Amino acid sequence: MAEKGSYEANRLRMVEEQFVRRDITDKRVLDAMRKVPRHIFVPEEHRHLAYSDCPLPIGQNQTISQPYIVALMTQMLALKGDEVVLEIGTGSGYQAAVLSLVAKEVYTIERYEILAQRALESIKQLDVKNVTVQVGDGTLGWPEHAPYDAILATAAAPNVPQPLLDQLADGGRLVIPVGGRIGQYLESWFREGDKFRHEQTVAVAFVPLLGKHGWKDNAWDWL
Ligand code: SAM
Repeated sequence: MAEKGSYEANRLRMVEEQFVRRDITDKRVLDAMRKVPRHIFVPEEHRHLAYSDCPLPIGQNQTISQPYIVALMTQMLALKGDEVVLEIGTGSGYQAAVLSLVAKEVYTIERYEILAQRALESIKQLDVKNVTVQVGDGTLGWPEHAPYDAILATAAAPNVPQPLLDQLADGGRLVIPVGGRIGQYLESWFREGDKFRHEQTVAVAFVPLLGKHGWKDNAWDWL
């Protein structure tokens, strides 16, 4: 897709100033973030801010995450390129497009049909063939394509949904924000056989993961 020079220049600057100067060192992640045009995943009225260091509204009270958080979560998955990945919370489709360049196959689930449709339209503008979008409750995972080498949840859960742990492959990793409305911590979960270990990392602020194994509807009353 042809793009205005300033978008590309802003994107390259974003990678240097927001990622490299912080702690993003995975070259494949940096390359993917240099390639994916974030502005096409951002609503027209916010497009001038597409490469700014902040989340942006995408409708339905949801957001496209801060670019640095997308890079960080992708780096935490430590992907080599041959993995099958499940994303919970398609939102704009931007994270899925980034994952498509660093993994073999990406399955992504979004609860709002309108967002899933828009995400699909944005992804179609790119030469991306390995992303499949489904509408549904991502807290149930997507058993048909399990096990997953990596699972990424981009909405905040009260606890890690059991179906996501069950659908993680041996040796796989799951990255998920866990906590309440005021804030959460990004957690990395690792599966070794039937055992799981996890690490708590940085503080973050995500919208809630709503669903059977997440928060109940309206649990966060500002929504
Ligand atoms: N990854 C997205 C992107 O690149 O734009 C950002 C996601 S946004 C921070 C979180 C998304 O999770 C929202 O679109 C929200 O509707 C979705 N969500 C919340 N609960 C969900 C659930 N149970 N299943 C699927 N999606 C869910």
